[in-house]
Amino acid sequence: MHDIELNEDQRMIRDMARQFAQSELAPRAAEWDKSGWIDDAVVRQMGELGLLGMVVPEEWGGSYVDYVAYALAVEEIAAGCSATGAMMSIHNSVGCGPVLKFGTPEQQQAWLPDLAAGRVIGCFALTEPQAGSEAHNLRTRAVLDNGEWVINGAKQFVSNASGRSWPSSLR
Ligand SMILES: Cc1cc2nc3c(=O)[nH]c(=O)nc-3n(C[C@H](O)[C@H](O)[C@H](O)COP(=O)(O)OP(=O)(O)OC[C@H]3O[C@@H](n4cnc5c(N)ncnc54)[C@H](O)[C@@H]3O)c2cc1C
Repeated sequence: MHDIELNEDQRMIRDMARQFAQSELAPRAAEWDKSGWIDDAVVRQMGELGLLGMVVPEEWGGSYVDYVAYALAVEEIAAGCSATGAMMSIHNSVGCGPVLKFGTPEQQQAWLPDLAAGRVIGCFALTEPQAGSEAHNLRTRAVLDNGEWVINGAKQFVSNASGRSWPSSLR
């Protein structure tokens, strides 16, 4: 196995994430685990630092450098608070990723700038009561009804899908 030689951008991002995680996350991680909620102000700060737009290119307000930089940042954030690391990785990967890859230009314009800035937090609703590993068993369907899409189905275990709505300061 060979060590990867990091470039200057990757080292800077890793060090910034490490410093932020150790000073802002680690001291409060146990408190957030108990309350089940990561402080809104900290999530906002992560948006300002570019940590929530790491797979989104600059043209959409993101901070994309490359996937090594992104992985290094997630690793450092998770070392400070594993719940925050999970929130960050789900938001960036399966939250922003599909909009970036499969969204129409209108959907990208509507969602990516807010996602990249952390004003909205992304999630991914795959699992259903009867289908987890067996994704081919999904029953949820989107049906066009008089020009409107109706989505029928039940989802569970959706990380980042809060039981309460996000405060207006994050919208
Ligand atoms: C912390 C956490 C966060 C999650 N976040 C999300 C999320 O954000 N969005 C989302 O959609 N889902 C999420 N999930 C759900 C997760 O994706 C599912 O739990 C996972 O896909 C497994 O599905 P299941 O729970 O239905 O278990 P099952 O698929 O029923 O599996 C039960 C057991 O059977 C084993 N098994 C299953 N199929 C096979 C096979 N073919 N061969 C051998 N063994 C097998 C599994 O390894 C497991 O041990 C989350 C789960 C957790 C624990």
